[in-house]
Amino acid sequence: MARIDLVDLAHTYGTDASGTPVFALNPISMTWRQGGAYALLGPSGCGKTTLLNIISGIVRQSHGKVLFDGKDVGALTTQQRNIAQVFQFPVIYDTMTVGENLAFPLKNRGLGRTEIDRRVGEIAELLDLTPDLRRRANRLSADAKQKISLGRGLVRADVAAILFDEPLTVIDPALKWELRSKLKVLHRALDLTMIYVTHDQTEALTFADTVVVMYDGAVVQIGTPEELFARPSHTFVGYFIGSPGMNILPARVEGRRAEVAGRTLALARSYTTLPAKARIEVGIRPEFVSVAPPAPDLATAKVDRVDDLGRSRFAHVRLGEQRVAARVPRGVPVGDEVGLQFDPAQIHVYADSHLIEGQRVEGEV
Ligand code: ATP
Repeated sequence: MARIDLVDLAHTYGTDASGTPVFALNPISMTWRQGGAYALLGPSGCGKTTLLNIISGIVRQSHGKVLFDGKDVGALTTQQRNIAQVFQFPVIYDTMTVGENLAFPLKNRGLGRTEIDRRVGEIAELLDLTPDLRRRANRLSADAKQKISLGRGLVRADVAAILFDEPLTVIDPALKWELRSKLKVLHRALDLTMIYVTHDQTEALTFADTVVVMYDGAVVQIGTPEELFARPSHTFVGYFIGSPGMNILPARVEGRRAEVAGRTLALARSYTTLPAKARIEVGIRPEFVSVAPPAPDLATAKVDRVDDLGRSRFAHVRLGEQRVAARVPRGVPVGDEVGLQFDPAQIHVYADSHLIEGQRVEGEV
């Protein structure tokens, strides 16, 4: 197990037509705590796999350093770094039994028979593979094969970290939930540093204690699921996390007022020094905009549709030209037009996509 530090880490795979380096990963400095359960979350192409492969040593970074417990591992191979990696598709030996597959990484490291049997038994039990231990791996379903891959990653107690690259892609949706919960239990039981790459917010938020959100080759926020929901530090985080995502609305902000689509919204904080020439937007989660019958003191919006999600309903409305998603409180009728109520404490201000803190106002949050 190890603490992993990235120091001014960046990576380019090559240059563009004019010879300028194209960075798949912009400079990042951060620490992965020993024993932490992390998710690396972001859309396709944002650099997640590149970062994971640099940590494991599959890709050698073009800039900066990776430290394991303070030691530069730049010159070490994946095996020397003692990393276990689980990929999107099963990596197993078809000709071996399930038990032999699980035992393989331990045999390779010279563990004794008794210790191997103990570890294999423990992991097989946790992954519900015990009844299959003597079966040949090639006879199993894709789900079961991927469980073996997970098991091969988890079976070693001495790894510096386990890296999962979208490991549940081939898994049946019904089983996904179960395996994800199992990984969380395993994390607690084994006290390992785990980094789980995914583009799926549900997978990230249910697995991880800390989520690292990437966008366009950069880490844009590191936080608990709660922090990412409550205070997205970048508009991308607000939009990408949550369902529906955060409303991001172009605005003019002065002091404690934001003008959005011709309406003035009150803010809980004061913004007096916004960067000149920056693109200013306000962000508010749909959970904190509520629909009410139209009234003179409320912003009036036209209703496009209402989505009923069972426990909650969200209206998709137009405020001037802006599309807004808003919660529909129980019992409120929704006609063609509605009034919108914004919770001032939940309105965040962004300049060029980055959160601006604002000054606290006496008596406000
Ligand atoms: P996905 O979820 O689709 O795998 P990702 O977030 O893991 O995406 P990466 O695979 O790390 O993203 O890719 C980041 C960027 O680097 C992309 O623009 C990709 O085209 C580029 N890239 C990745 N691997 C290579 C490579 N071997 N050579 C050149 N460019 C690459």
